Amino acid sequence: MAILEDPLRLVIGDKAAKPLDRALELRTVGDLLRHYPRRYETRGELTDLASLRDGEYVTVQAVIAKVTSRPMRNRRGSIFEATVTDGRGQLVLTFFSRGRQDWRERQLAPGLHGLFSGQVSTFRGKRQLAHPDYELLDAGDDAERAAAEYAAEMIPVYPAAKEVTSWTIARSVRVALDVLDIQDPMPRAIRERHGLRGLADALRGIHRPIDWADVRRSRERLKWDEAFLLQTVLAQRRLAATAYLATPRPRVPDGLLDAYDARLPFELTVGQELAGAQIGDEIARDHPMHRLLQGEVGSGKTVIAVRAMLQVVDGGGQAVLLAPTEVLAQQHFRSITEQLGPLAQAGELSAAEHATRVALLTGSLGAAARRRALAEAASGGAGIVIGTHALLEEKVQFADLGLVVIDEQHRFGVEQRDALRDKAGDGRPHLLVMTATPIPRTVAMTVFGDLEISTLTELPAGRAPIATHVVPAAEKPHYLERVWERLREEAAQGRQCYVVCPRIGGDVPDGTDDDSAGQDGGIPGSDRGDGTLFAESTRPALAVLDLAAELERGPLAGLRLAVLHGRLPPDEKDRVMRSFAQGSAGVLVTTTVVEVGVDVPNATAMVIMDADRFGVSQLHQLRGRVGRGRHEGLCLLVTEADAESKSRQRLDAVAQTLDGFKLSRLDLEQRREGDVLGAAQAGRRSSLKLLTLLQDEELIGRARREATELVAADPALARQPALAAALRVLLDQEQAEFLEKA
Ligand code: ADP
Ligand code: MG
Repeated sequence: MAILEDPLRLVIGDKAAKPLDRALELRTVGDLLRHYPRRYETRGELTDLASLRDGEYVTVQAVIAKVTSRPMRNRRGSIFEATVTDGRGQLVLTFFSRGRQDWRERQLAPGLHGLFSGQVSTFRGKRQLAHPDYELLDAGDDAERAAAEYAAEMIPVYPAAKEVTSWTIARSVRVALDVLDIQDPMPRAIRERHGLRGLADALRGIHRPIDWADVRRSRERLKWDEAFLLQTVLAQRRLAATAYLATPRPRVPDGLLDAYDARLPFELTVGQELAGAQIGDEIARDHPMHRLLQGEVGSGKTVIAVRAMLQVVDGGGQAVLLAPTEVLAQQHFRSITEQLGPLAQAGELSAAEHATRVALLTGSLGAAARRRALAEAASGGAGIVIGTHALLEEKVQFADLGLVVIDEQHRFGVEQRDALRDKAGDGRPHLLVMTATPIPRTVAMTVFGDLEISTLTELPAGRAPIATHVVPAAEKPHYLERVWERLREEAAQGRQCYVVCPRIGGDVPDGTDDDSAGQDGGIPGSDRGDGTLFAESTRPALAVLDLAAELERGPLAGLRLAVLHGRLPPDEKDRVMRSFAQGSAGVLVTTTVVEVGVDVPNATAMVIMDADRFGVSQLHQLRGRVGRGRHEGLCLLVTEADAESKSRQRLDAVAQTLDGFKLSRLDLEQRREGDVLGAAQAGRRSSLKLLTLLQDEELIGRARREATELVAADPALARQPALAAALRVLLDQEQAEFLEKA
């Protein structure tokens, strides 16, 4: 009898186990049984040979039509060819040998049925498999074995490798299933509530199904396993996090928060009110808040963060705001200082009652400014400290850190979150994570599954809409002239514009521009914007430096162009951003450094060059930079991509909707899930095999509810030993993968 954790070699023997380990990294019974069939062949139903593609490694079911054998021309040896057919198309199996191949000729007799496995290629206009492995399905020499193995109608076809064919996997699976003796980790009550079959049945059903209904029921149960185990881990993490102590910071009447609210030039949206109340409530408790605030671009997440920070400051604590880029940290510093006015001028004559200070700490500060910021953080003089990664350094200390706000989370790993949290002394600070763009609910539940989630769906009222148009520069070159004309019109009305290019240019070789990587659009591993991920064209992407020079000489002469990109020294970046924010630069020619969070309300138009080189969420995030004030925003997506191409479809989708949630789903459909799930899930032995985040949204939601309830009632899973054991295996594997990578 075997359990899932048993080493495979104990069950199928060393000889069979070795290649499975080497080629597919299947080491335990569980590894093998979770190596699911890619598809099923129905016995007697031949594979459509026309569907094969060159280069593919395939297993096909076909009938041998004819065989020929001839000596090789210039060398000793023979070529044996068997032509197999699906009734319409043909495929040639080619075998070379130094000697005669009579035995093969006897074996591969015309009329026989078999599975043939190898890499597809084309030779002299004919599809072929050179030296395929094969397994004949008609009885043959060992009739008894054949009868037992192929009694089933459905033949599983496994993801295979050169050394291990699909049918050797099937044979090992059969042996493992025969000796399998397992406890179902899923509590019976949950299984019954959702009509799920037992785990052992599901494993049998997916590997050796009787019919399609059998496959469906098995997949349903196995998907549940994936979702449920993961959600149980996450629920445990959420619960464990709340077991830490935090200093409660209840709202203090007539403090900075009230004064700030009174200064706000607008009404909060309903969503902001709700999320704000929830956050205010949670930081008033003596357990740390762990919350994700996700929302539409421009939905006003920063205000919520500032209000939470002020509540903490009112309670005697400090708050940090961690931004992903220097530009953004500086912008936050400027705008928050400005919004707070006298509330942030402690120690100055103009200060308000209870006033605090805001400090900025980034890598580029001069020595004196840096010393001052460090001192203000350490003394508690600065209630709010804003900065970049520089905040994570060991030297940075706080008097009483009560709240960590992470803007645009996906650039920061969990370790970085923890590095900041550790600065809080005994207790743990409250944690608020904000995403740049909306993310699909299931991604939030999976990637950020250890956090509670708040979502802002609406934009503040009175926001002028953004009109987006695709400009097909290849088909209609004169449209491009019109683009520059439009920018001149905006400028004539005193408004400002962005021109975004995928590349910096200059003498930096392609692919090393430092703005290229990591300019993500809201979900981890999102669009790289490096002009390679999505590009269909082979021309190098347009570059900021080249285009700026060209525009200055020509179509945009006299419009006060400024240039921004990640290779500028930080103080230069800040100077440029500032001059644009103040309106002394009219057009900002830039890379995606403006993507995240930059806020200049007078900027009304954005032209994105080579727009097809960006991903959907990134484009949405970029265009969120315009239309932030009273005036309608305009976004022009310039592309040379073919009208019928996938790229154009993506651009059309961006032009057609302003719904970031819709676009983020589209984005997710177009990338591999591993990219989205991040390192922990992207491993070869990812725990998500059958589950797809978009199609199984409903199932994931149900699994999350069940897991949360179960963990709340039985945090250590004392009443669920089988589940606890399964989780240990999952976590060990994750740990092992993590170590392998490190
Ligand atoms: P994001 O959610 O994309 O980070 P921001 O926090 O940068 O959005 O807010 C975008 C702009 O909207 C800012 O200029 C901010 O001052 C403004 N804003 C925020 N909330 C409101 C509101 N309720 N009404 C009007 N304007 C608002
Ligand atoms: Mg923001």
